[in-house]
Parts: sequence; C-alpha cells; structure tokens
Amino acid sequence: MERLGFIGLGIMGKPMVRNLIKAGYRPVVHDLNRAAVEELAKEGAQAAETSREVAERSDLVITMLPDSPDVEAVVLGPGGVIEGLSAGMLFVDMSTIAPATAKQVYQRLIGLGVESLDAPVSGGEVGAKAGSLSIMVGGQEKAFARALPIFQILGKNIVLIGGPGSGQLTKACNQIVVAVTIQAVSEALVLARKAGVDAAKVREVLLGGFAQSRIMELHGQRILDGAYQPGFKIRLHRKDLNIALQTGRELSLPLLATAQVAELMNLLLATDRGDLDHSALALLIDQG
Ligand code: NAD
Repeated sequence: MERLGFIGLGIMGKPMVRNLIKAGYRPVVHDLNRAAVEELAKEGAQAAETSREVAERSDLVITMLPDSPDVEAVVLGPGGVIEGLSAGMLFVDMSTIAPATAKQVYQRLIGLGVESLDAPVSGGEVGAKAGSLSIMVGGQEKAFARALPIFQILGKNIVLIGGPGSGQLTKACNQIVVAVTIQAVSEALVLARKAGVDAAKVREVLLGGFAQSRIMELHGQRILDGAYQPGFKIRLHRKDLNIALQTGRELSLPLLATAQVAELMNLLLATDRGDLDHSALALLIDQG
C-alpha cells in the first residue's frame, strides 16, 4: 500500500480522510487547524506539524485547500511539500483552483521527478462522506493509473480529461452549471411561495420532469427549509466563477449568466453572507 499524505481537513478533506482510513490506510495529515488534525489522529490518521513533514512521510500526497494561493503556499512555499518530497512521489491536488496554477505546480514538480495530477471534485459534502464524488482529472495517463485505486475510494465517476490543468478547466465548467442552476431553482421556488402556491409540491412535481436535477433535489430542499449552513460556501463558489470568467475573458467568450450569478454572490459577500451555503442565493430573491 502507498503511504498517503493529506493536507486540508475542512468540510471536504475530513470526510475524504475518514474514507481512506475506512479502506485501511493511515494517512499522514496536516491542517492549520490543529483541532481537525487531532480529531482525525484519534480515528487512525497520523498527525504532522507541517506540509513538508507530510511529504517526507508519504509516497502520494493529496491536498484539499480553499484556493490557488493556498495550494501555491502549501506546495511551493517555505515548509511546503516541495521541501519534503523525493523523486517518485505523486502529488494530487483535489482543491478547485485556477487551471494556470495547476499547470505551474505541474511544471515545478515534474522538474524534480515528481508527477502531479489536478483532480478537483464535484458532489459536495454529501458526496465526500458517501465516497461518491465525481473526480475530473488532468495529467499524465501513468500518474492517473497510479492514483486510480485511491480515487475509487473517494469517488465513483472518475474521468481523465486530458493533460495538466484540464481537470480544473472541467471543474470551472461544472461550477457554471451548478451556479446558474441554483439561481434558476431559487427563482422558481421563491416565485411559487410568493404567489401563494405550495413550493414543496412544486419541487416534488418538478423532480419528475425536465426541471429535474440534483440541485433541485438537494438545494431545492435547503431553500424550502431555509437551511443555509454550508455545505459549499458562497465565497468558495464566487472564487470558482471568477476562474470561469477569467478563462472566458482570455478566450473572449461572453459568459453572461455566469457573470450575473457572480455579481449576486458579490452582493452576498458584501452583506456578510459569504459563509452561507451557495443555496443562499435564494435569500436575495426572497428578502433582498
Ligand atoms: P474548507 O474551508 O472547509 O477547508 C479548507 C481547509 O484547508 C481548512 O481546514 C483550512 O484550515 C485548511 N488550510 C487552508 N490553508 C492551509 C495551509 N496553508 N496549510 C494547511 N491547511 C490549510 O473548504 P472545503 O469546503 O473543504 O473546500 C476545499 C476545496 O474543495 C475548495 O477548493 C473548494 O472549492 C472545493 N470543493 C468544495 C466542495 C464543498 O461542497 N464544500 C465541493 C467541491 C469542491
């Protein structure tokens, strides 16, 4: 068995590590949040003080961090993975970050004899807990084959898309569809309620027709319940839409719906609601 390392034990990372432990691994784990490290150490993981230490003690290192600068700091910064790795290690970033950063990390590590994959996920906290994430992978075929047994513990729908950065590009596409669909579900369910129709019944019947989606099912229920604890934070989804918009600008593509939802997310951030679940887009229609 490969010695696994895992850095970033938040909403997603923690249940992913639990699934690796369940599968018989004893991952070396690190996070700035000591409490998360200690919690998982009690459950069978091994605590590490720094990202460098994780790399020193692992054959395959996974990161699940918020944003591009976090991945750059953890991998390339002082005390980072780059200081502890040895040739032959495999690095897998499962965070959602800019494709350009993923390519940059790939270039730096390959020069040191270390393959890397960008492998962002979709399926949220529910999918992380159930081990049923969709995993979209960019990188070389051989590295993908090596990581596949680990991906199969964490997810179900696992696709190698293409070369370095292509996993992140795919994730940007995913985030456009999720954001715009949440906005559509929000508009439909708030409209139903304000018009005096039972919104729960609207959701129920729409789930049987063309309006059916995982978003209608899960986020639609959150909207009905007013349950806006994350889940997936507005601030993280806004980051992902910025990645999509930036990529679109580089290609001169008009991503109109994406831009509109990104602005609505800005409004939620500006009114201190950035740490709510992304289904809180419905609040803006409901209450302003
Ligand atoms: P989170 O904020 O809950 O967790 C991130 C963790 O990284 C935190 O525990 C934080 O302390 C740790 N961290 C940050 N900087 C660090 C550093 N320098 N060294 C060590 N640890 C550090 O975020 P999350 O919801 O788990 O999301 C993680 C990534 O997965 C993001 O890129 C997000 O966009 C993506 N994602 C999230 C979801 C979701 O539903 N939450 C779904 C799919 C993808």
